[in-house]
Amino acid sequence: MRKILLASTAFLMACSAEAQKSDYGPPSEVQDIYAIASEPSADRIRTDIQTLVDFGTRHTLSETESETRGIGAARRWIFAEFEKISKDCGGCLEVIYVSDTISGERRIPEPTEVVSVLAIQKGSIDPNRYVMMSGDIDSRVTDPLNGTSDSPGANDNASGMAGVIEAARVLSKRKYAGSIIYAGLSGEEQGLFGGEIVAAYALNQGWEIKGVLNNDMISNISGIDGVIDNSSVRVFSEGTRANETEAEARTRRFTGGEVDSPSRNLARYIKAQADQYLTNLDVMMVYRLDRFGRGGHHRPFNQVGIPGIRIMETHEHYDRQHQDLREEDGVEYGDTMEGVDGPYAAKLTALNMITMAGMAGAPPFPANVEATGAVKPSAKLTWETPDNADNLAGYRVHWRLTTAPEWTHSRFIGKVNEWEFKNLVIDNYFFGVSAVAMDGSETPVVFPGAAGRF
Ligand SMILES: [Zn+2]
Repeated sequence: MRKILLASTAFLMACSAEAQKSDYGPPSEVQDIYAIASEPSADRIRTDIQTLVDFGTRHTLSETESETRGIGAARRWIFAEFEKISKDCGGCLEVIYVSDTISGERRIPEPTEVVSVLAIQKGSIDPNRYVMMSGDIDSRVTDPLNGTSDSPGANDNASGMAGVIEAARVLSKRKYAGSIIYAGLSGEEQGLFGGEIVAAYALNQGWEIKGVLNNDMISNISGIDGVIDNSSVRVFSEGTRANETEAEARTRRFTGGEVDSPSRNLARYIKAQADQYLTNLDVMMVYRLDRFGRGGHHRPFNQVGIPGIRIMETHEHYDRQHQDLREEDGVEYGDTMEGVDGPYAAKLTALNMITMAGMAGAPPFPANVEATGAVKPSAKLTWETPDNADNLAGYRVHWRLTTAPEWTHSRFIGKVNEWEFKNLVIDNYFFGVSAVAMDGSETPVVFPGAAGRF
């Protein structure tokens, strides 16, 4: 009798542990992401920037035959470096070139092969879902057509490229549910051609890229404005999806979403990850596609509907961008190693890594998210769970005032596909939903409708 009693007590205890689990949800922090944040090496990043600088020029129109100078040598070195990293993780990376021939363009008049390098780390549960980190291979000086002069491009953009390689070194030691792409893009300075070619390639392959983290200039801490700042970073994101249809824009006009494109909610996610997992780095979200009138390699992805943002230093120094190496009236011009701060580049690389670890570790993003609730005292969200959700713990709903720049309120609600926000009038708040993995990894918040769709 006593034995039976004990057994049933144990059973009861097991039941209540189960109940507790589902009541309180998964952990709100992923311990391994703290470790990841501390792993990028400033020395390795600095060494890789130096190696890229030592190719003399990496201009898209520079020579490709030499093993020591020009963009051909540079891309082959990047390819070899990814292969080396892959060897260290038992062949966990597939390294490929993605290229196309461009001609008849203002900055690429003659037929030129624009070649990017991708290293792909396949996910274990949901391999067709990707997050991408990109930097650029190419550099330029004052004349955008000058493919022969020395063009070190240390900060612009060997820094971003070196960050990508370092991220591959660290994250390839781990396994994730979703896939990660480490990308060196080319042709940026000539008109964003590498990004355009890779975006088309991704669509063609049917890859579902949920976010492109475009790193362009991540090592300069001393601005033209005289400010020296190694503890903030800018994240640029578009407010509405570039490829929304006229009908989708009309719907958005009536239901909202002007500041909730997937790219914008990706930016909010990056800020939230930094607040949780990084010290000494404040993310300044900039609510615009890119700097005023200027371009970057996330744009061609946005153009075809792939969420993407630009990560970069807060204070730029224009004497060190796109300049012939020279001295004029005592001022040094040129993008040389002197402008590179290794620890700062490592910190911004860590920002990318904690973002990719979170997104790749998360379950599939909530699909077909819809909001309803006009003329009712409560609002309702519905969504669907895609396939390959083996690591799904449940969903978290989010809400905020319409003027709030970030999500302010959230609640874990378990494994359901709808939620009613009692006593919250739909007119007065924005709503969204994220998917949470058993280990606590979470997707960005998905805003309802076509406006917010990832
Ligand atoms: Zn540039």
